[in-house]
Amino acid sequence: MGYIEPAPITDKENPFESMMERFNIAAEKLGLDLETYEVLKSPAKQVIVSLPIVMDDGHKKVFEGYRVIHSNTLGPSKGGVRYDLDVNLDEVKALAAWMTWKCAVVDIPYGGAKGGIKCDPSVMSKGELERLTRAYTVKMYEVFGPDTDIPAPDMGTGPQEMAWIMDEYSKAQGKTVQAVVTGKPLVLGGSLGRVEATGRGVMVSTMEALRKMKIDPTAATVAVQGFGNVGSNAAKLLAQKGLKIIAISDHTGAFYNLDGIDLREASEYRATYKTLEGYTGGSKITNDELLELDVDVLVPAAKEDVINNKNADKIKAKLIVEGANGPTGAKADGILHKKGIVVVPDILANAGGVTVSYFEWVQNRLGYKWTRDRVNRRSDRIMKEAFERVFSVADKHNVSLRIASYMVAITKVADTYKLRGSF
Ligand code: NAD
Repeated sequence: MGYIEPAPITDKENPFESMMERFNIAAEKLGLDLETYEVLKSPAKQVIVSLPIVMDDGHKKVFEGYRVIHSNTLGPSKGGVRYDLDVNLDEVKALAAWMTWKCAVVDIPYGGAKGGIKCDPSVMSKGELERLTRAYTVKMYEVFGPDTDIPAPDMGTGPQEMAWIMDEYSKAQGKTVQAVVTGKPLVLGGSLGRVEATGRGVMVSTMEALRKMKIDPTAATVAVQGFGNVGSNAAKLLAQKGLKIIAISDHTGAFYNLDGIDLREASEYRATYKTLEGYTGGSKITNDELLELDVDVLVPAAKEDVINNKNADKIKAKLIVEGANGPTGAKADGILHKKGIVVVPDILANAGGVTVSYFEWVQNRLGYKWTRDRVNRRSDRIMKEAFERVFSVADKHNVSLRIASYMVAITKVADTYKLRGSF
């Protein structure tokens, strides 16, 4: 087919190129027509705003804010808001497209979006962050809405920023509109189970993959990169299922203990010192060494592009479950595939988070609160069904789980687009 452009040859892969490479392979396998291909790859809306903020010292500083709606074919668009100095339109576009495929693969009725403000939240006061968040919301009145576009936290933002967005949006509407954002504090309509939802989805995906691979989980070893929200919860839940976590890490380094890391002790250490630096429950190794350990399961849950064409050949895990977004560069896919390593891709493995965000929105709209047990049972079911759908497509077409995930997602969005037309 004529529409596939070769990926540029660079050392460092950018997330958009990695995403498009997989998208192109899946589109080709599906025989997607050129018109639908063009529609699906192009963002539906891109908004750039300037945000003049009075800083604490009295001077005015102008920040740039973005919101990209990649698709609203399946429903209102959903995606986080990132506060980081590296935020730029290209990155936001890639992350928005990723959200479209993630929501489609788990079959929740959302399109994909992403937002961001180029800023360094670590050097801003709470007051400055509040003014910035409120100004961003005002500029996005026409974009945000429970039926149109629903933000959530991402890097550099959390429940407090979501509370400000909800409040500012509600002011303009003259009534409280909880469902305009997810990831809110519990008292403002957040959902039980949201905090551990992504790690829980990683655990469910791991258990499903091990079952297919006929590996006994109680005899399996695991290395987890990143000990934040996703990594620490995934590690804890996998350990509860009987897997042995023999390595964990954060940005300061990795820790290895063949007898198993004491996760409660590690969590307490991190809660006290904010990092794992100085932790003595395992011998110190590097993050690169952690990735190359001889384990059954590797869970990269920190950052993008950590498995790439430089180290893919040295990976010894039988199964990789991507807790992080984009931890494997597209150039590593073929190497891992050749080595027979099974990869549960990010858009499937870490979709537990957006699934429970969807439950938060549903509860807000119902004016009702579900129990933690109900949230967990429903998200587990959605994750298992999605895994099964992806697995059967992989089996039928003899492709990796990653390409199968994209095929499932593209089919869902393309079929919906063709049936409903051009909205
Ligand atoms: P977090 O900030 O809570 O934790 C990140 C962890 O990674 C920390 O332990 C940090 O020290 C570690 N880290 C940072 N740089 C590192 C490096 N160079 N080497 C090793 N470790 C490093 O973030 P999180 O919410 O757990 O998100 C982690 C990944 O999962 C990101 O890619 C994020 O986009 C993705 N994700 C998160 C969610 C969610 O619900 N939180 C949902 C889907 C995907």
